[in-house]
Amino acid sequence: LVSPEVDVQVESLPRAPVVTVMGHVDHGKTSLLDHIRRAKVASGEAGGITQHIGAYSVKTDRGMVTFLDTPGHEAFTAMRARGAKATDIVILVVAADDGVMPQTKEAVHHAKAAGVPLVVAVNKIDKPEANPDRVKQELISEEVVPEEYGGDVPFVPVSAKTGQGIDDLLEHVLLQAEILELKAPIEAPAKGIVIEARLDKGRGPVATVLVQSGTLTRGDSILAGASYGRVRAMLNENGKPVNTAGPSIPVEIQGLTEVPAAGDEVIAMADERKAREIALFRQGKFRDVKLARQQAAKLESMFENMGEGSQTLALIVKTDVQGSQEALVQSLLKLSTEEVRVQVVHAAVGGISESDVNLAIASNAVIIGFNVRAEQSAKKLAENNGIDLRYYNIIYDAIDDVRKAMSGMLAPEQREEVIGSVDIREVFTISKVGNIAGCMVTDGVVRRDAQVRLLRNNVVIWTGAIDSLRRFKDDVKEVKAGFDCGITLKSSIDLEVGDQLEVFEIKEVARTL
Ligand code: GDP
Repeated sequence: LVSPEVDVQVESLPRAPVVTVMGHVDHGKTSLLDHIRRAKVASGEAGGITQHIGAYSVKTDRGMVTFLDTPGHEAFTAMRARGAKATDIVILVVAADDGVMPQTKEAVHHAKAAGVPLVVAVNKIDKPEANPDRVKQELISEEVVPEEYGGDVPFVPVSAKTGQGIDDLLEHVLLQAEILELKAPIEAPAKGIVIEARLDKGRGPVATVLVQSGTLTRGDSILAGASYGRVRAMLNENGKPVNTAGPSIPVEIQGLTEVPAAGDEVIAMADERKAREIALFRQGKFRDVKLARQQAAKLESMFENMGEGSQTLALIVKTDVQGSQEALVQSLLKLSTEEVRVQVVHAAVGGISESDVNLAIASNAVIIGFNVRAEQSAKKLAENNGIDLRYYNIIYDAIDDVRKAMSGMLAPEQREEVIGSVDIREVFTISKVGNIAGCMVTDGVVRRDAQVRLLRNNVVIWTGAIDSLRRFKDDVKEVKAGFDCGITLKSSIDLEVGDQLEVFEIKEVARTL
């Protein structure tokens, strides 16, 4: 909604990849992040540094990697639902002794829906029970195919406990980053995203901002969602004051007037008053702005789909048991036609969570609950964001409804309907008005706003609209069969006695599949 003040053409330079770690609980996300951070401290800066903010960068021989320390797909998808893209690569952690679990699958679906490439860290490889091959097989079932099987996903065996394989993991992350050719201008006003924010008793609103392009400088006026201010102080990930932060660098800033939300866009603006104005507008009408943004996104995705010649109905399916999930998903996928494709973005057993709703917002999906219900918070989130949440307890009903929804997505068909026939019995030519036809409606009805075809000896010689329809001196809306009327056409074509008018209307008819 807001474009930067100055849009100067500046050279884009390579930037560090921004990585989020996802995976099932207890598979080692925290341990992995801890190990990477400790390794970095050991290899470089003075010891004793404790992590200060929820994001940090790591230097490796091949380059820098920025980690968003918000493990879990909730944060990831919550941000994406707000239209923000903070992550370039997802490290999917799977414990080799436990294999693919429900949250592993969920993470895969969230990453895929966001179009973010995966690097799989097969963790706990130090354990005797570790079975990396099983992890591979199970992920292949989720359409995550290892490179060695012709896929594009690197699988790296690691141990967050011993540190084995972690350098290799970072190497693969940087290789993926090279493929992505991540670039951003440095010499430009900063743009970025709020990773987390809080109200500090002494310092006021404090926000962790990931700079995504340009350079954020102390003293900059910024707009962050519905908040604005001047960057009064800026700390790096170790709590040290810094004056500037470039692309892919996370910093903690002070000086905002309000606490922004995670996922809010941050923009440095030359004009402080303008930043204030926009922030105040957003505070007052934030809901409207949010809705408008969503609607715009929806329209955009509709147009995208139209471009491909077909539309997509995205679904999230939550069920009570595995059996009903499989049956339902299979039947739903079978409904796909050339015109409307059914896509199941995520299917799992369990109640409908906030994370499901966020995924629905991000992928414009309808949520189907089969013998399950939404958590209170999820229900609220769905309501506030206009997400369609539907409950069923009979598979057939769900399928029937989805089919109806698909029909509703089809553009209505325009069908022509002949509604009447008129004989021209006299023609008067009046200067300034032109031809007036004295007519008899011989069949059906003639309506003022209908279309007509002028027939001469049963040949169509003109098609167009009626200009005026009269009974005696009165303008009328319609004249039925058996009555006289006067008609002028929106054309200067010459009329002849004996001509006929075929009267028709264009109707929009809903199509069904
Ligand atoms: P998270 O829930 O995904 O963040 O998982 P944690 O990092 O908290 O790890 C869960 C448990 O697994 C902890 O007890 C860790 O010590 C243990 N753990 C994590 N990584 C490894 C590993 O590579 N090897 C072994 N043996 N244990 C690990």
